[in-house]
Amino acid sequence: MMEILRVKTTKHTSVVNITPQVRDIVRKSGVKEGLCLVYVPHTTACVFVNEGADPDVVRDIVYMLEKLIPWNDRAYAHSEGNSAAHIRSAIIGNSRIVPVVDGDLTLGTWESIFLAEFDGPRERKVIVKVLKG
Ligand code: ZN
Repeated sequence: MMEILRVKTTKHTSVVNITPQVRDIVRKSGVKEGLCLVYVPHTTACVFVNEGADPDVVRDIVYMLEKLIPWNDRAYAHSEGNSAAHIRSAIIGNSRIVPVVDGDLTLGTWESIFLAEFDGPRERKVIVKVLKG
């Protein structure tokens, strides 16, 4: 079972909670025990799991990524001018796997799944594959 979510990001940098959509796909799949793969096929966006309860956590993650990996750096060589977005995405990674138990995602109490956009706004794809086993 595989579905592709299409997520429209609205800002240059934006972090979108995609947990409800991923959870719906898992429930629709009928898989009771298995794994849910969430994969972002882009080089300037990525996916991560972290706290979804307090929005200040995501705000602080974005703040520190921008501080550690600034948009402008004279030493960047990539001619497209978006090296920071590539680097941020490469460090975070373009996939996550969440166990499926009793037909649902086994996220921790405070956890959510986020698509992170670093070179938007754009429409992004998120591939969600639910594997039985
Ligand atoms: Zn580029």
